[in-house]
Amino acid sequence: MERDHKHPGQKAINMDINNSTPACGFDAILGNSHAINGLKTMLLNNKFPHAILFTGPAGVGKHTTARLFAMAVNCLDKDNAPCLECKNCRRFNNNNYPDFIETIAETKSIKIEQIRDACKKLIFPPVEDGTRVWIIVDAHLLKEHAANALLKILEEPPPQNIIILTALGDDSLLDTIRSRCMKLYFYSLPDHMAATIIQKKLGTDNKTAVQIANIFGGSPGMAIAVTMDDKIISSFKESLIKLFSYGNRMAIKETLDMALKISKMSDHLPNLLEWGKLLCRDMFLIKQNIDKKHISMYETILSLGDSIHTIPESFFLRIFDAFNETQKAIHENVNPQMAIESLFLKITDQ
Ligand SMILES: [Zn+2]
Repeated sequence: MERDHKHPGQKAINMDINNSTPACGFDAILGNSHAINGLKTMLLNNKFPHAILFTGPAGVGKHTTARLFAMAVNCLDKDNAPCLECKNCRRFNNNNYPDFIETIAETKSIKIEQIRDACKKLIFPPVEDGTRVWIIVDAHLLKEHAANALLKILEEPPPQNIIILTALGDDSLLDTIRSRCMKLYFYSLPDHMAATIIQKKLGTDNKTAVQIANIFGGSPGMAIAVTMDDKIISSFKESLIKLFSYGNRMAIKETLDMALKISKMSDHLPNLLEWGKLLCRDMFLIKQNIDKKHISMYETILSLGDSIHTIPESFFLRIFDAFNETQKAIHENVNPQMAIESLFLKITDQ
């Protein structure tokens, strides 16, 4: 574990915010410098906690940073870690480094077998003369038994292993797991940084990238995921505008039909719900007479017409909470159709 890492490298480009292997050094990661500096300090001092929790909104680079750190921990060029060029970095990039484990949710949950399989490997020392890194992506998707199995290994962590958990919020994990991890907080990026990443990934012009960054509140990964398919976001937007505009004048059958249609976009639901939260936030801000330059979705809200004036501001806060509850329910594998129906009915209950 005690290795002679120095300050990691100054080079690097081509950050892949949307996960997969990062093809860059830390300096190409935009934003969240407090978290990056914390990791650099660990590398510099060769001191690593047994477990680190990367917590923050979706799409701001938690997974990318975790992979980059995992590569840096075993990079042979200690002055430039991760150098991307040494034998270990190359093996890491080719998914061929033996002391790296990554656990990703299968069908929206992380199952006990996945945790057990990884724990079996942790019992043995790393194959190479280094430190094994185990990344658990979206640890808020750990099923109860899986979380308990993980807790056991966190209680007695075997040496020469670092466990990294990424999660949407630190309240989405068991207290007992949380308390055994060092926490690194990630935040949404300033719009100009998010726009730079979006521009690079989507190949849009700068103006469009800034607009997209505004809409997604500084989560480029989320913006990229959703804007990949315009039809999906427009269909959701159209439904929400109808629900907010018509309120209790909306026919129940039509509300349920819309909910059914949206619930079928299962892979996109987390992003769509996040988008809905931003819309609620903006509507609340408009009711507070906040300057429109702070309103990301001003154009969308204009299409609501006069109805926004008749809805009390407390309603938008209530619906914001309802979006949160729906996200949580979907994480917990509640039937998406039921979860979206319940959300949509709440929006019409003005
Ligand atoms: Zn290297």
